[in-house]
Formats: sequence, structure tokens, C-alpha cells
Amino acid sequence: MLQLNHVFKTYRSGDGDLTVLNDVSLSIERGEFVALMGPSGSGKSTMMNILGLLDTPTSGQVMIDGVDVTQLNSAQLAHTRSATIGFVFQQFNLLRRTSALDNVLLPTLYRAGIIDPVGRAKSLLQAVGLSNREDHTPAQLSGGQQQRVAIARAMMNDPDIILADEPTGNLDSKSQQEIMALFRLLHSQGKTIILVTHESEVAEFAHRIVTMRDGQIVSDEPNPNRVSAPRERLQKSEERGTPNVSKKGRTLEARLAFSFASQAVKSLTANPLRTILSMLGILIGVAALVAMLALGKGAQRDIQQRLAGLGSNLLVVSPGSARQGAVSLDAGAVTRFTMDDASAVRDEVAGIKRVAAVVNGRGRVKFHNRNASTWLQGVMPAYAEMRAAEPTFGRFFTEDENHGRQRVAVVGMTVVRELFGDESGVVRINPIGERILIDRTEFQVIGILPEKGSTGWRDQDDVVVVPLATAMNRLLGKNYVDSIEVEVLDRNQMESVQDRLQELLRRRHRITNPDDDSFRIRNLSEVQDMLNQTNRTMSMLLASIAVISLIVGGIGIMNIMLVSVIERTREIGLRKALGATQKVILQQFLVESVMVSGFGGLLGIGLGVGVSFMLSSFAGWTVDHSGWGIPIALGFSVGTGIVFGMWPAKQAASLDPIVALRYE
Ligand code: ADP
Ligand code: MG
Repeated sequence: MLQLNHVFKTYRSGDGDLTVLNDVSLSIERGEFVALMGPSGSGKSTMMNILGLLDTPTSGQVMIDGVDVTQLNSAQLAHTRSATIGFVFQQFNLLRRTSALDNVLLPTLYRAGIIDPVGRAKSLLQAVGLSNREDHTPAQLSGGQQQRVAIARAMMNDPDIILADEPTGNLDSKSQQEIMALFRLLHSQGKTIILVTHESEVAEFAHRIVTMRDGQIVSDEPNPNRVSAPRERLQKSEERGTPNVSKKGRTLEARLAFSFASQAVKSLTANPLRTILSMLGILIGVAALVAMLALGKGAQRDIQQRLAGLGSNLLVVSPGSARQGAVSLDAGAVTRFTMDDASAVRDEVAGIKRVAAVVNGRGRVKFHNRNASTWLQGVMPAYAEMRAAEPTFGRFFTEDENHGRQRVAVVGMTVVRELFGDESGVVRINPIGERILIDRTEFQVIGILPEKGSTGWRDQDDVVVVPLATAMNRLLGKNYVDSIEVEVLDRNQMESVQDRLQELLRRRHRITNPDDDSFRIRNLSEVQDMLNQTNRTMSMLLASIAVISLIVGGIGIMNIMLVSVIERTREIGLRKALGATQKVILQQFLVESVMVSGFGGLLGIGLGVGVSFMLSSFAGWTVDHSGWGIPIALGFSVGTGIVFGMWPAKQAASLDPIVALRYE
């Protein structure tokens, strides 16, 4: 069933080629017990590795059950290995920190169709005399016991062939006897056994002894002390119950996924400090991302609220040169607008919804013994709706009150607090209906303006609004207005309305040279666009900072995964020898890196939420965690684990099993 035909193995090195196997041909029948002997360096292990499909010959044929395995790809080789071959190593190669039972179960992860794997593993441990050591880790077992666990592991997938490379090389003579008794038992159950050994008393157990020297077989004879034709040879593998492919209990995929997760947890908790340090980058990156998204969203909401307070579709006409910075030679060139201009704009320019003229000034307000200095604004009643300034309490003044120059006032919250609040700013008097003095003229408070907050350079609530005519005549003594605010019906018509407005005002003020416009028209929707643009720029900036921290975090994870792959080289080699495909190894390490980054991401989300909460409660910043911020952050951290874990995982997957198994 096992056949080597003219197999050569040559290692290329700097000073000439080294031929380790030199035209080896060997045929081994089912049920044989072969001992492979010879001096150290004669090529025994190399031949075992080729028989075990861990290595490929430089030339020649390797046949298993009539199939030339040199033609198979790595996944097919892995599958054939797990189905037909069980390995026993000199170094035992058990997984550390893993119980005897789980070590025995390891091969079943890479092969479908084992019925009741746990039950089978327990009975195998019982067969090797270790039923009371199931939960012991390798460190808690003697060398002989470890090798017995390894033999139970080799039997787990019920292979036809057992390959053992100096299995007793590290054991005392008593353990050696126990191990050899086990091999004899396996042989009597029909297994084909090939065993490399130095010691003739070990070789005595075999029925056939093959001796090698310098890469060639120098003798191949039956052991005269054993029966020449073991009856077990008649027993065919097909007649024994082959593992049933019907799946009972958890599927292979579920068991694999579970083993990925538990392996990852094991390896990450084995070195907690290192794990935490490697998480740190991603933790900070995700925390920054979460906090920034929340703050960015909060800022946007803030800006939108303030923009809504500013009014929409507004054109503001004010005196002054359109050519900013240019020195006007004619000092009298500044245009002064009147209320008639405002009426003319309203009546003659098409596409306008509302018009309000505005005057500004400062004044002192007084209530009983409290007084304050504040902004005064005289406006037309339409202003309330245009600037979203309808009072939250009370009412705005009417057209009649404006015409009649009534002494009524609508006050901002800052003024309310200053005049009507107590020391701590709590307002206990209802200002509506109260009489206040503005620059010694008595006014009645009829409403309170909605709070608009600060624009940064000015407190928008520090204002008293009175009818335009009252302000011009009774308070500020102006016969012109400071600006005319125009609300356009349709946002898309802003520019054409602006053109018509300009034309009308030039005509009314007899401006012939358009370069000499002594007034300017500002488009507030441009201001809005600019603010939004600024906010977008800020968000982009913050996002790129977060991305950079994620990359730094990712590099940290990549680093730790590379270290982990190197540390576990032997483990990877073992898993491959037991039938793990490249894909499975890749998945195992990806799961580990995603676990690091995902857990780091979760901690980061917690930290980010905490930080933004503190910023909002102590610094008064607006934060908004709604929307996709947190899912995005989690997605990013998992993605970082996949992207940066991919390379180390590929390194692990592409390891050569023999090189990996030899790694010290
Ligand atoms: P044995 O198991 O009989 O002691 P091996 O099969 O392990 O011998 O090795 C046979 C020879 O091949 C030795 O001389 C060893 O130095 C050489 N050899 C083994 N692996 C490599 C390798 N990867 N590169 C170069 N030479 C190797
Ligand atoms: Mg060897």
C-alpha cells in the first residue's frame, strides 16, 4: 500500500548539492510492522517525512494505495494525511496549556465524519492507560505519559498507517517498554507501523528491519524472532467500521469555529499584558473615531440650529463699498437707505417673500434698580418670521404698533436674566407686561425672544428688539436704516433676485457706474454653505486623524501576530501534519487578530463614549451618538484586524510543515 520508486532527495546548498536520499525504492504492505534503522544523518527522517506526505522528493514516485501522491496539491495532501496517516514524534509535540483530552481531539478538527469525537478520545485515552489524566496539561504529565497521549492522538482519525520517528528517543527504558507495547497492540489491530529507531531492542518489536546508510537502503530483512507473516495483514481496512460520514452533534464547521475562538482566547490570555499593549493602538484609534463622530455630528446639529435661527434665503442689503479694501475718494459715496427703499424693494422686485428694514445701536436698559448695557434693534414686524425670532413667551409687535411708534419691546434671554433674574440667574419675575426703561424712555415688555446662543464673537441673546419707527424716532434718532433684509421665495432664484434688487437700488440712488456701488448685498445662504463646508472640512480632518490611529493600531496588531506566528511555529507544523489545510491555519490566525482588534474596538467604543460624555458634561460640547458612529467604529476595528492580520496569517499558512516542526 506504501511504495517508494527510485526516490531521490537533494538539498541545494552553497558548496554543492547534498543528496540525502539516493535512489530509494521500498514497498510496504498493509499491516506490516517495519523498523527503520541506521546511523544518524543517513536519511531516515527524510524518508519518513516523504512517506508522511510532509515532504516531497526531488524525483521519484510516492504511491499510497495506488495513487501517486506527488501529483496532489497541498489541500489534497492535507486531506490524505489526516485520513490515512498518524504521526508520533520524538518530541511528542503536544499543545501546551491544552488538556490531554483536547490534544487527542486535535486531529478531528481537520477531518469531517468522526462520530462522537469526545467519546472516542476518552476511550483512546483509556486504551493508553490515561483515563484519569484527561484534564492534565503536558506540563503535568511525564514523558512516557505525554507520548501515550500523542499515540492516542495519532489514532484519533483511525488512520491505516502510523509513522513514528524515534518515539522512544526521549524516554527511559520503562516508558519505552510501555510505548512499544502500545505499538504492538496497534499492530495487532491491523495498523501498518513504520518506526525509526537507533536501538535494537526497540527494533526487536518489528517484523521487518530496514537499514539505511548514506541515503541508501543497505539491508531489508524480516526479523527472525517474529512471525514472518502476521495474520493481521489479512484484515482489510474496509472491513473495519470506517468512520461514518453522517454528522452527529456539532458539525465540523461549528467545532472548528469553536476551536478557533478558544485557541485565540487561550493564546491571548497566556500573555495578558502583551495582548493589552497590542490592543492599545486600536483602542485609542476607535475611541478617537467614536468621540470624533459624536462631536462632529453634535457640531453639525449645532450649526444647523444656528443656521435655522439665521433664517433662510436671506439677502442683506447694507451701505458700504462692494469693493472691499478699496479707498473711496468720495467720502459721501456711502448710500443711506430709508424706509421708502424698503417699501420699494417689497413692491417692485419680483420673487420676494418678505422685507424688513433694520436699525442697530446700543443702549442702557433698566428695571427697578437693575440695569444693563445691551444691543438695540429696530425692525419691521416681518423680521420675526424671517429670522425665526417669534417669541417663545408673549408676542412680537404688529404693523400698527410699528406705525404708531409704540413703546413696546421684545427682549432676549440674556437681558431677561440680567434685569429679572436673581444673583444665580434664576428668573422669578415674569417680564411680560413689566415696564422697563430703555435710555430713559419707558417701554413695555411684550415678548421674550427664542434663545439663539452665541456665534462666538457675539451673544445673540443680548439684545432688545423694538419697532423700527420707534427706534428711529425715539431711541436712536436716525432717519435712515442700517440694512434691508430680503427673504427670497425660491432658493434657486437668489441670484436673479439679487440682480433685480441691485438694479432697483442703483436706479433709486442714481448710481451710474456699477463699479461705484456704494452698497453691498450679502447672500446669507452663501454663509450657510460656507459654514457647512467648514464643518465638512473639520469632519474630514477628524476622520483622517482617526484613520491614522487605526493604521497605527493595525500595525501594532500585525506586529503581535507576527510574533505569535513565530512563537507557535511548531504548533503550526503539528497542525499541518495532522491535516490542517492552509485555509484552516489562515482562518485560525485571522480569528485571533480579529479578536484582538474587535475586543480593542469594543473597549475603544466604551472609552470614546466616556470621553465624549465628559466633554459634553464638563465642557458643554454638543455630542450626538445617534446614527452609524458606533457600528462604523466596530466595523473599522474588525476590518483593521482582518487587513493587518492577513499578512501574519498568510505567513503562518504558508509555513512548510517540516521546517515548522523542526523549529526550535
Ligand atoms: P536521520 O533522521 O537519519 O538522522 P535526516 O533524514 O534527518 O537523518 O537527515 C539526513 C541528512 O539530510 C543530514 O545530513 C541532514 O544534515 C540533511 N538535511 C536534513 N534536512 C535538511 C535541510 N532542510 N537542508 C539541508 N540539509 C538537510
Ligand atoms: Mg532523524
